[in-house]
Amino acid sequence: MTVRPDEFPPPRKILVRATNWVGDAILSLPALRAMRQRFPAAEIVLLAKPYVSDLYQQEAVANRGIIYNPKKEHRGPGGFCKLIAELRREQFDTAVLLQNAFHAAWIAYLARIPARIGYATEGRAPLLTHPVEVPPPVHYGHQSYYYMQLLYRAGLAERPTPIERIRLAIQPAEKNWAVKYIKNTGLAGPRFLIGVSPGAAYGPAKRWLADRFAQLADRLIEALHADVLIFGSKAERPLAETMAQAMRHMPVILAGETSLRQWMALLSQCRVVITNDSGAMHVAAGVGVPVVAIFGSTDLSATGPISPRARVVQHAVDCSPCGYHICPIDFRCMNGVAVEDVYRVALTLVKECRVTHEPRFED
Ligand code: SF4
Repeated sequence: MTVRPDEFPPPRKILVRATNWVGDAILSLPALRAMRQRFPAAEIVLLAKPYVSDLYQQEAVANRGIIYNPKKEHRGPGGFCKLIAELRREQFDTAVLLQNAFHAAWIAYLARIPARIGYATEGRAPLLTHPVEVPPPVHYGHQSYYYMQLLYRAGLAERPTPIERIRLAIQPAEKNWAVKYIKNTGLAGPRFLIGVSPGAAYGPAKRWLADRFAQLADRLIEALHADVLIFGSKAERPLAETMAQAMRHMPVILAGETSLRQWMALLSQCRVVITNDSGAMHVAAGVGVPVVAIFGSTDLSATGPISPRARVVQHAVDCSPCGYHICPIDFRCMNGVAVEDVYRVALTLVKECRVTHEPRFED
């Protein structure tokens, strides 16, 4: 269904179920900003998992957050009932489900929130008061418009307009922390820092090869007199170590060492970041650093980085985009991306951004 913006009664207290992935959370920010703008007097509360909730700390899109932690205080049937009781006490009048899961609608239904708005996915339409049909991709294109279309079609935001970048706020104190942290790793003094994020939580089909990341990092170190920081989650630590072991130069491995906000602050100190199509790509683009993203199995037009300082390297193959977590054939999409391809794009981008070998710590 579609409700026109001027037909929707102004909500007083809105619960927004945020997405569970960092990249999606970033891509949904324009929609959240549009809703905040349309209902400045409403109290907007974000229900998000712990890691993702940190992303919203410095974004003025909600009044506050409720952390949903199914691994700790909301674990099991008892923890789930505790969450529902907490939400009932809040007496929200509207629930907006950016997450597509049935579970999100189930929570809003059990919390007795009168208006429940979300895409009609996962068989959850009967639980929603305002199920919105998913528009054909041609109507939204990039994933960021997917979220904006939901709000627009539900009457909660104005018609989506083109997005040129999605900025993420980093506070000066966070940057100062990053500067000190980098110094403590042994990289004192002016440095040209290159961030490399070889992982992708979605699965191996999104990951360029670790030994090629290693060769690329070595070449960039030599060309730019740089130092390399390897980023990633705790689960990606072995991958980061595999990459480091394949390098001739010594990188600093930060995978699994930081919180989300610390990771954001550290990324903001890099002169260029090399990633797969991953959360790291969207974070790097969001904090405004030049980013080179390697795409293989995924659709650039749907999940590409939104930043004028982002470049993409891709080897065209007929089977892409495929959506697989693990490649069922010969991984030609990523095998076809040579170190030289990414190296040239990275150097050109560095040059274009007029990134020079200057002290970064005073920024
Ligand atoms: S099926 Fe094709 S696009 Fe998908 S991972 Fe394999 S090679 Fe890449």
